[in-house]
Amino acid sequence: MSGFMFIIAFGLFGASFGLSGRFWHITDLHWDPTYDPSKEPNSVCASSGSRPASNAGTFGDYVCDSPWNLINSSISAMKATLPDPDFIVWTGDDTPHVPNEQLGEEAVLGIINNLTYIIKQHFPKTKVYSALGNHDFHPKSQLPAAFHNIYNKTSEMWKEWLHLGSQETFRQGGFYTEELLNRTGYRMIVLNTNLYYDQNKVTEGMEDPAGQFAWADHILTEAANKKEKVYIIGHVPPGFFEKKRSKPWFIAKFNEQYLKLIQKHHAVILGQFFGHHHTDSFRMIYNSDGSPVSTIFLTPGVTPWKTSLPGVVDGANNPGIRLFEYDTETLLVKDMVTYYLNLTFANEAQERWEKEYRLTESFQVPDASPLSMHKILERIANDNCYLQKYYEYNSVSYDLTNCDKNCRIDHVCAAREVDFSRYEHCLEKEAAVYMCGGLLPFLSVLLSLVLTIYV
Ligand SMILES: [Zn+2]
Ligand SMILES: [Zn+2]
Repeated sequence: MSGFMFIIAFGLFGASFGLSGRFWHITDLHWDPTYDPSKEPNSVCASSGSRPASNAGTFGDYVCDSPWNLINSSISAMKATLPDPDFIVWTGDDTPHVPNEQLGEEAVLGIINNLTYIIKQHFPKTKVYSALGNHDFHPKSQLPAAFHNIYNKTSEMWKEWLHLGSQETFRQGGFYTEELLNRTGYRMIVLNTNLYYDQNKVTEGMEDPAGQFAWADHILTEAANKKEKVYIIGHVPPGFFEKKRSKPWFIAKFNEQYLKLIQKHHAVILGQFFGHHHTDSFRMIYNSDGSPVSTIFLTPGVTPWKTSLPGVVDGANNPGIRLFEYDTETLLVKDMVTYYLNLTFANEAQERWEKEYRLTESFQVPDASPLSMHKILERIANDNCYLQKYYEYNSVSYDLTNCDKNCRIDHVCAAREVDFSRYEHCLEKEAAVYMCGGLLPFLSVLLSLVLTIYV
C-alpha cells in the first residue's frame, strides 16, 4: 500500500514540474532474413560468412545478424518497458553484413521498410527521428551527395516522421532537421555522416558533400540566434573505434570539420547520439581551454554479430536498447539506462530483457552532462574497478575478460580524443602511465623498502 502511494506521489511530482522526459535510442538492428537455426552450423545465416553458428537458437547466434525474432523481441521490450516515450531515436544499419551481390537496391529498401513497419506498429503515435546507416544503401556505404532513389524511397517510408522541408533535404542528401517535442525552441538535427565515412568512395574527394556542413552550420547559427536547444543524431560517429587501435571511421578532413562544427556551436548542442560501433561507449569533446563541452553517446546495437574487422578479438555483444532521461526544459541529459538480452540465456531458457545498468548509479555521477561524463572518463582512466565495469558494459556484458594495459589505453584515448593527432598523442602519453594497481603497489613496495632500511 505504501509503495503504491509512493508511486502516485512521485508521479504527481514529476508531472507538476514537467522536467523529466524519456526517449528510446535503438541502433544497428541488422536484420538477417536468411537466419534459420534448424540448418547446419555453416548454413544458419548468410551474415556469419565462413564462421559456423554453433549456438544458434530462437533469438540468434553471436556470429549472425539479428533474426526476426530478435528484432521483434527488442521492439516489444521497448514497448513493455516504456510504451509512451517522448520520441524515439533510431540510428540505422538495418541490413545484414553480407556481400553486396547478396542484396541489391530492392532488398535493402525491403528491409528498411520491414523495420520501419514494426516500429510504427508498436509505436504508432510516437515521433521517430531516423538516420540512415552505411548499411542502408546499395552498394553498402556508397551514399551519394545528391538525389538518389534510395533517399527518395526512404523519405516516402518515413514521411509520417518528416515535414516537407525535411523530405526535401533528405531526398538530396539523407539529412534533415525537425522540431523536437513539437515545441518552438527545441530542435533535432539528423545527419548523414555516412558521407564522411572512409569506406565511401563517392564523396571522398569532395569539400563538403551535399553541403551538409554548411547546412548544419547555418541551422546551428540560427539555433543560437533563436536561443534553441539542439540534439544531434547520426550513424557513423567521428573519432576512433575503441576496440581497434588507430581505427577511425571518418576521412581526416571530415573528422576535423565535424569537430570544429561542434566546438563552434557547443553552447546550443545538448547531446549527440550515434551508433555504428555496436558497442557501448562515449566520446568527449573539449574546447581549446580543455573544458568538456559535449558528449557523443554511442548506443550498443541490437545485432549480436561478431565483427569480422581484422584485429578485433571476439567482437560480439549482447543485444542492447537504451532509454535516455533528460530535462524537457533544458535538454540536459540526466541519465541513461541500458537494457539487454543475454542471448545465451534467451536461447537456452527464456526471453528475458533486463536492466544492465543505470549510468548515474554505476559511475556515481549526478547526471550525464559533459562535466559528469568527463568525470566518468577520468575514473575509467585511473581506477581499475571503473575500467573493468565500463569494459564489461562496452560489449553489453558479453566479454567479461580482464581489460589489460593496452585495452585501457585503447578505450581511454578513443573516448578522450576525437581529433586524430591528439588521439595519437594520447596513446603515447597513456602508454607511459602506470595503471592503478601498477603504480600504487610499486610505491608501497618502495615505501616498505625505505622503512626496512631506516627503521
Ligand atoms: Zn552496424
Ligand atoms: Zn554502420
